[in-house]
Amino acid sequence: MKFDGLKEQMSGQLKSKELFEQAKSAAYEYLDSLPAKTIVPSDQAIAALDVFQEPMPAEPSAPREILELLSRFGSEATVAQSGGKYFGFVCGGYYPVSAAAKWIADLWDQNGALFVMSPITSKLEEVCEQWLVDLLGLPSGTAAGFVSGSSLAILCALAAARNELLLKQGWDVNQDGLFGAPPLRVVVGEQAHSTVFKALSLLGLGRSRVELVPADDQGRMIAEKLPPLDSSTLLIAQAGNVNSGAFDPLEALCGAAKEAGAWIHVDGAFGLWAAASPHKYPLLKGFEKADSWSVDAHKTLNAPYDCGIVLCRKRSALVNAMRASASYIQYSPHRDGMMYTPEMSRRSRSIELWATLKCLGKKGVGALVDELCENAGYFAERLAAKGFSVVNDVVFNQVLVKCETAELTNATLRNIQASGNCWCGGAQWQGEPVIRISVCSWQTSRQDLDECVETFVKSRSV
Ligand SMILES: *Cc1c(COP(=O)(O)O)cnc(C)c1O
Repeated sequence: MKFDGLKEQMSGQLKSKELFEQAKSAAYEYLDSLPAKTIVPSDQAIAALDVFQEPMPAEPSAPREILELLSRFGSEATVAQSGGKYFGFVCGGYYPVSAAAKWIADLWDQNGALFVMSPITSKLEEVCEQWLVDLLGLPSGTAAGFVSGSSLAILCALAAARNELLLKQGWDVNQDGLFGAPPLRVVVGEQAHSTVFKALSLLGLGRSRVELVPADDQGRMIAEKLPPLDSSTLLIAQAGNVNSGAFDPLEALCGAAKEAGAWIHVDGAFGLWAAASPHKYPLLKGFEKADSWSVDAHKTLNAPYDCGIVLCRKRSALVNAMRASASYIQYSPHRDGMMYTPEMSRRSRSIELWATLKCLGKKGVGALVDELCENAGYFAERLAAKGFSVVNDVVFNQVLVKCETAELTNATLRNIQASGNCWCGGAQWQGEPVIRISVCSWQTSRQDLDECVETFVKSRSV
């Protein structure tokens, strides 16, 4: 390919759609290959990635060959996490309508920063905000910001909390920074997610400066052990422990925070969706009294990556924390997404979120949550029947199991991971290794689970 003709060729490719057709075929081939594919790539496939290891090319390359390279070597080195037998981390799959909507949005290439940059993104953010408030039963007027995931959503919420708590004490942290500011207290459950501590460190609130609240045997904060709160306290609770799936006693925690004038944030990365299920709603009882919440659509909801949401009861608190201005930024009377997020330029993830919510409806989200939880319960029951010990109360989508000895648990997990038939991660639970199962793909069927139980049984050996 000649550099001179590059632009003409690319214009031709836009017209002919040949590259998009090639990409479509490759993507379909990948989908069709999934049932026979091992969940994790082979060592050979990983070694073959060296093909990408080359110096920055001096000359242009042919697009057709680029896509071929990606498809041939790249797809072999993916983790097949969107199928029914991936239980690692809390990942979730995607619905066809969600991914298809994202494809359309990809070619729209919208920048979600401002209304003037993308009215459709702005409209769908507004709609998703209203729908989420309705679906989750949050106070009307709650503001939503659409970010990459819970890491960012937690950061945004805690930034809003920090600003608001300091403002109450007459300190404008936006303008004057933290040096010399009146101290804030941060109270966190001892099993809070690592991203909470990361957000605290990024915000200058410190990872180790926190007051830790002891947890019970399920990893829930013990409300009775909460230190006295006051109006300079940020309390961070959790709806869905990343290992056990347990929910903090939110009614008690929100009650205590409200009484003291403290700010309470609920990290509900995968658990907040329980609000959509009448069966699971009791786990969240009282959570709507919190000041802010964070949740991932790319986990339980099965929207594609990346799709996190920060929700804040007091709109002005979130907007003040994310405020930016410059002479060229043109705010509008409509929704300008960047008022609610740390980023300026941002992809328009509200598009696939809207498609997912519209496709499922309230009933569909509730049914999805129920099915994931029922599948987790079934998985736990079947494994227990085969002699594995289930060490957590399976209240949501998480199952923790172990074997007779730590050595056997570790070896079994290694064998499961190497089997290629299904995939789970490991964790430490109460000082012992466990196999950690997250049921979060809509595709998982009872047959998948039965086959996985067989894999577990066959893998149980040192
Ligand atoms: C996954 C998770 C996070 C982090 O979310 P990302 O979307 O990966 O940034 C935070 N808290 C909990 C409880 C989680 O499960």
